[in-house]
Amino acid sequence: MARTHILGFPRIGFERELKFALEAFWRGDTDETPLRETGRALRTRHCELQRTAGLDQIAAGDFAFYDTMLSQTALLGAVPARFAFDAKALTLAQYFELARGNARQPAMEMTKWFDTNYHYLVPELGPETRFDGGTEWLFEEVTEALALAPHVKPVLIGPITFLVLSKSVTAGFDRLQLLPALVRAYERILGRLRALGVEWVQLDEPALCTDLEPAWLDAYDTAYRGLADTGLKILLATYFGSAADRAERISRLPVHGVHIDLMRDLVRAPQSLDVWQRALPEHMVLSAGVIDGRNVWRTNLRKTVSMLRPLHDACGDRLWIAPSCSLSHVPVSLASEIQLDAEVRPWLAFATEKLGEVRVIARALNEGEAAVAEALDQSDAAQRSRTTSRRVTNAHVRAQVAGVTDRMTERDSPFKARIAKQRAALALPLLPTTTIGSFPQVQSLRATRAAYKRGEIGALDYLQHIRSEIESAVRKQEALGLDVLVHGEAERNDMVEYFAEHLWGYAITREGWVQSYGSRCVKPPIIYGDVCRPEPITVDTIAYAQSLTDKPVKGMLTGPITMLQWSFVRDDEARESVAMQIALAIREEVSDLEKSGVRVIQIDEPALREGLPLRRREWPAYLAWAVRAFRLAAAAVRDDTQIHTHMCYSEFGDILPAIAALDADVITIETSRSKMELLEAFHAFSYPNDIGPGIYDIHSPRVPSIEDMLALLRRAADVIPLERLWVNPDCGLKTRGWKETEGALRNMVEAARVLRAEVEGNARNPERSVATTRQSQHASPVTHE
Ligand code: GLN
Ligand code: ZN
Repeated sequence: MARTHILGFPRIGFERELKFALEAFWRGDTDETPLRETGRALRTRHCELQRTAGLDQIAAGDFAFYDTMLSQTALLGAVPARFAFDAKALTLAQYFELARGNARQPAMEMTKWFDTNYHYLVPELGPETRFDGGTEWLFEEVTEALALAPHVKPVLIGPITFLVLSKSVTAGFDRLQLLPALVRAYERILGRLRALGVEWVQLDEPALCTDLEPAWLDAYDTAYRGLADTGLKILLATYFGSAADRAERISRLPVHGVHIDLMRDLVRAPQSLDVWQRALPEHMVLSAGVIDGRNVWRTNLRKTVSMLRPLHDACGDRLWIAPSCSLSHVPVSLASEIQLDAEVRPWLAFATEKLGEVRVIARALNEGEAAVAEALDQSDAAQRSRTTSRRVTNAHVRAQVAGVTDRMTERDSPFKARIAKQRAALALPLLPTTTIGSFPQVQSLRATRAAYKRGEIGALDYLQHIRSEIESAVRKQEALGLDVLVHGEAERNDMVEYFAEHLWGYAITREGWVQSYGSRCVKPPIIYGDVCRPEPITVDTIAYAQSLTDKPVKGMLTGPITMLQWSFVRDDEARESVAMQIALAIREEVSDLEKSGVRVIQIDEPALREGLPLRRREWPAYLAWAVRAFRLAAAAVRDDTQIHTHMCYSEFGDILPAIAALDADVITIETSRSKMELLEAFHAFSYPNDIGPGIYDIHSPRVPSIEDMLALLRRAADVIPLERLWVNPDCGLKTRGWKETEGALRNMVEAARVLRAEVEGNARNPERSVATTRQSQHASPVTHE
């Protein structure tokens, strides 16, 4: 009998209840009671959903008020010492202070969870870190779940993944030294779960699907040997990639089962199944992740059942059926998607619908396909409809992609020649100032957009409102003295959704929210068919902004990789070809902008880095097509049209060759929080084109002083030649208010002026230097690993 379970359920709620409860609590509108009540109601509902779907094990402990890594940290009692909290008596309010900072301490660092768009809080470890126990929340939640269902399987982040994802806050400290203490802590936790009456626990170890040093692989042996005698059965969960190359080693661990992700590589899936089936000893459960936990497509049930049939015959009870990973990466339910295109809707399955799929697959295996004939037929019909739909394949797009040549990915002249023409055409000063695109999205604007979407105001009234926002943004920038202006993105709710709404091949959901971090959710659009641009998207808007001023206004587009990465992508096409289709659509937009007289065009690629595969050996292939897609989008313009790109998240030191290969004339990057550390890498690599390292952190409402920004600018000037240096913030300003934005930009422009004046002074008096000395550059201690 194949069994069924899931690795975790989205915690944000069908209507983002958790988000609204959290934000009300943070605003001080409510006390803890309604927030806790919302949490409990959500957990109960998720438990009920799994129970009514007939799953054999119910996941618990997958809930968190902010983040699962943070909750794991709180459970272990490993709260960063700098907060001076009593780990054993941590309050909910203090838990949020860890995540969001307080008056004395900045928040814990947040970073992306593997290659997803979910962010976790990075545990801070050092020689004095203790894991002496912390919150009781997990035990309370498990007790609560046990009252609702007999077979509850708590879900925890595994010890090695926890350690891998944490950072050392003491220079030179090796986190592996903490392993013995950490294992003892996990042993105590598992012992307590056992005492509550739990049989199975799931320990998430996605780090097993990444590149690991031998010492870290060995740590798996040490850790799991240490957890062998708690009386609990351990399901070791791997996901987000394949761990098949480590199947032998994993099969020797004293665990009772292994979960594998069979979705990330459909071609290889049956082979990895064989590998695992051969490797796993008789007593181990194999949990097959056959339903895509990262994507929204309805499973081809019959195909999946046939793939699993031999395994089922061989393993019987030892086979578990599951989604590939936690369902928290897909929206909660299709139920509210009533306005979704009637043809597309049946092709989809969100978290709730996937629960049903798990069950159907198990029943087909256990009872025979006849027992679930209706569900299988519906799945067949959906597959048929998808493969034959006229909206999926567009012959014109196919022909265009087939016709892409290398020449189309190349600008007419090399950078040096282009930049000379651009400087002449744009007449920019030394150290030109600009911003990244968006300006504050004030409440009245959001309200007007909502009213427009509800049909309460007409298209022209909405357009009028947008135009007045644009005009006021242009006037403000002129008054501030910025050199390259932007229109402010007032018409955009989201940088991906806005373009998706205007492209064929994309569907937009109404409530398809996925948690990104804390209370923040994203609503990725769905690419179901060949992508193309039926008509210009931004040309009117940018041309309007340009008509208001003599200064150049930057056209603002979202790049092909970001459009891909922040969407749910069709699973019947290689990502690479979808990227090329999007690139062609953007290329048309770039050409039309240029034709309308726009002289600077920015193509944002903040998601380029997060598209990197988990294994380094797969990086070159990804980077090759990603770079090609960007270049295809950008290269259509004349030499004197300036292409900018923008990226956030500063850790791209290791992909600099690819970033240089984008061949953007100007790149603006996030650097202020790391105090320009990243620029060292650009310097060492001799990055050839213009760079705008962000000199103020837009994530904070604090207005940086002229001196703050000047200091950062000097550090930048130390490594980047002045004539290639731009002056700008770290990222877009949509989340900020106008008051702080204007204050910060005024100081930023002033900082640029001060440095310019010094340079001019120096030209007369070459003794003085504008840059800090290289020595002081290295003075600050670097504690990151
Ligand atoms: N142009 C976008 C903005 O300014 C870029 C956003 C981003 O990098 N995430 O909002
Ligand atoms: Zn950004």
